[in-house]
Amino acid sequence: MQNYLFTSDIFRGSRYEKGHPLDMDRVWPSVELIRLMGWINENQIIKNSPAEISELIKFHDLDYVKALKKAEEDQSLPDNLRRQFNIGIGNNPIFSEVFSRPATAAKASIKAVEMIAHKKAKKILNISGGTHHGRKSQAFGFCFLNDCVLAILKALEKGFKNIVYVDLDAHHCDGVQDVFSENENVSIISIHEKNRWPKTGKFEDNKLFNVMNFPVNESFNDNEIDYIVCNVITPFIKKKKADLLIIQAGADMLDGDPQSRISLTNNAYWKAVRDVQSLNENVIILGGGGYNPYLTAKAWAGNWVLINDKEEYLNQEMKSQCYDLLKSLSWHNRRVKNGIPHKWISTWRDECKNYPIGDEILSLVDKILKIKKLC
Ligand SMILES: [Zn+2]
Repeated sequence: MQNYLFTSDIFRGSRYEKGHPLDMDRVWPSVELIRLMGWINENQIIKNSPAEISELIKFHDLDYVKALKKAEEDQSLPDNLRRQFNIGIGNNPIFSEVFSRPATAAKASIKAVEMIAHKKAKKILNISGGTHHGRKSQAFGFCFLNDCVLAILKALEKGFKNIVYVDLDAHHCDGVQDVFSENENVSIISIHEKNRWPKTGKFEDNKLFNVMNFPVNESFNDNEIDYIVCNVITPFIKKKKADLLIIQAGADMLDGDPQSRISLTNNAYWKAVRDVQSLNENVIILGGGGYNPYLTAKAWAGNWVLINDKEEYLNQEMKSQCYDLLKSLSWHNRRVKNGIPHKWISTWRDECKNYPIGDEILSLVDKILKIKKLC
């Protein structure tokens, strides 16, 4: 058995509409970086096709899925359906692959669970997954489907009894929590920026027996995420005796991402992913947010290294081909109006930052440990 990286050709050249935060490439550049560094055997890369409608309606409403498919076919949707399903409105635009792309990401997450359940894979990285805001019958927060929910439902169907979902995205995983809160077979853990859209994921939710929420403020730092992972998340997962770990590894808490105010370095991000993924044999790592293409591609490429327990590779020099690839990615954002900062594309690791753990995090951890009876 070996580990696998899931992708698809659909992510090459597929973009949301101009000016959208996802009007850029993230998935294929991550895969290319891994290849260029020589970190993967070609037989570990699996390309997926879109999920069947019958697979999607395990969670989503049939009418919604049909409307999404129609939106792709016609490249438009009648006004009443747009309003009903939130498709083609605001940040959920109709684009060329508006059905096929999320359906492919969903298929990958479903298949990842199946392969692990059937002992055909150890650990799987599905960079295209992590669409944690998707609703049963509405598009929400750039997410048209919810592959996280579909993966957990598949895991329940396959008989997993102790699924732990850990969400490191800067935004709260509202779509996942809403479906599985008070489900005794699923635990939902999320660290996210307080008061940021969608403004859910309150501290008070920790009273729910299977939900652990860490709303943190914008000064959240490297030592603080490490403190939370080591002192709460790790002991919780160990105590739970999880039989499947799903990690939503959104990269929008990184310093330089335009969709959050948190400024972690990738050292802290990778340590969190490493520490959590090392707790179990059955692991699926997803993507998620990540709106700076350079930082996101590096972060997700690094997750492949971590899933293979080769963390030391991240200390390697970046190959010139990787630099060239990153440099070639276009991004319409004020952060690069004077050129791409050299440090984003020339080294794997960010420079370390060493700020102390603040009282707010010490107190938050203390309270959650007490509520969850971990101390
Ligand atoms: Zn996010």
